[in-house]
Amino acid sequence: MTARIIDGKAIAAGWRNETALRVERLRAAGVTPGLAVVIVGEDPASQVYVRNKARACEAVGMHSEVHGLPASVSQAQLIAFVERLNADPRIHGILVQLPLPKQVSARTVIEAIAPGKDVDGFHLASLGALVAGERALYPCTPWGVMKLLEHEGVAIEGAHAVVVGRSLIVGKPMAMLLLNAGATVTVCHSKTRDLAAMTREADILVAAVGRPGLIGAAMVKPGAVVIDVGVNRLPDGRLGGDVDFDAVAQVASRITPVPGGVGPMTIAMLLANTVKAAEQVAGLAARQETRIA
Ligand code: NAP
Repeated sequence: MTARIIDGKAIAAGWRNETALRVERLRAAGVTPGLAVVIVGEDPASQVYVRNKARACEAVGMHSEVHGLPASVSQAQLIAFVERLNADPRIHGILVQLPLPKQVSARTVIEAIAPGKDVDGFHLASLGALVAGERALYPCTPWGVMKLLEHEGVAIEGAHAVVVGRSLIVGKPMAMLLLNAGATVTVCHSKTRDLAAMTREADILVAAVGRPGLIGAAMVKPGAVVIDVGVNRLPDGRLGGDVDFDAVAQVASRITPVPGGVGPMTIAMLLANTVKAAEQVAGLAARQETRIA
């Protein structure tokens, strides 16, 4: 079997077009959706992510602001800054770029974000709503994976989904979204005894670990859908995922590449979440976020 490659770049472009239409509708109603990104310190990787996010906002007609704060910022100063953004009517989404310096508790800062502006979906209110199966702003990466699966017409209900990784940013919300969609979900992590025995049971396998090539062909059931969330810098400088792409593509029915799979969907979902937050404020019903051609 040679897997069909899930083209995250193309699917994300479809989402951005849809988001641009929603922005137009909001602007016609007098509301320009606005995203504020707060970045602390000078970490070069974070600077690149933040610049990409701001650029993506502008491309769909949204307002975006990037606020750089010094690495020496205190927790109280950062919280006061977030509170100003909470009160700013031009801002519908607030994202505090992680990681934060040691003197600041990321959890405390995230809890200071108004839940209605929590476009990363990391606030405990957002995560609680996800567990309860309520509508909320969901974490962008796992939400993007759900949209990839939906776009590909993958049957989730009744499928056995195995998620490798249990972080609060990817693994746990991923498992919860799949569970809410009717999958039987197994979550694996570094303490899992026989990882291969678990992953071989998966109809849908999501790898979110950060270990290049961890998932080999012998760990994948023939015909499985394989989603690779991992982003790893390889010794030769290229980016690679957690899945041994060439080998697993011979076994799986569908597979996401790295780069060009899940990554582009993360930013697309950030824009969609910001628009959703603005629609809530503007009293416009969010458009049905189902399949995008
Ligand atoms: P993380 O917080 O480091 O979590 C990694 C998870 O993998 C942990 O739950 C860990 O288990 C588990 N793990 C580590 N080694 C393992 C092993 N040998 N076998 C099984 N499980 C193992 O990372 P993250 O933030 O979730 O990110 C995961 C990957 O996704 C990274 O490569 C990251 O760069 C990437 N990522 C990509 C996007 C995107 O947009 N494409 C977005 C976010 C993250 P324990 O809990 O037991 O330690």
